[in-house]
Amino acid sequence: MDKKFPSKAKLRDVVKNVLSSHLKVSSQEELMRLVSKRLRVENKNFVVSPTRVKRTALEMPEVEVKAKTKKAVKLQKISNCPVCHSKIQPLEVKNLLDRNVLIGYSCTGCKYQSDLEAFMPMKYAFLWKEAKV
Ligand SMILES: [Zn+2]
Repeated sequence: MDKKFPSKAKLRDVVKNVLSSHLKVSSQEELMRLVSKRLRVENKNFVVSPTRVKRTALEMPEVEVKAKTKKAVKLQKISNCPVCHSKIQPLEVKNLLDRNVLIGYSCTGCKYQSDLEAFMPMKYAFLWKEAKV
């Protein structure tokens, strides 16, 4: 089987499609399942990872991502990228109480990203913003 990775634009399209019809998807795995199901209608060789789907959703202004953690954790504070030494940006989402939760870091200079998931399991929910209106 030839694996095929969907383009970023393609993935955004599908995530948009899935979330605008479901309005809320309450886990990363579920979102991935729904997204790959749609992708495979077009090409059965399409593969995506839950992390890639989540990152795509995080980058979309139409989507609100909420994270639920069992307890608050303190991340080791880093201010520069360990790869290219550029400035590091915190990746934050709102939790179910509407407070900002740090879920990792991303670099402004390269593709480096550090996920808190490396340290602890998180539960995500993906909401289509227009559903609130
Ligand atoms: Zn970097």
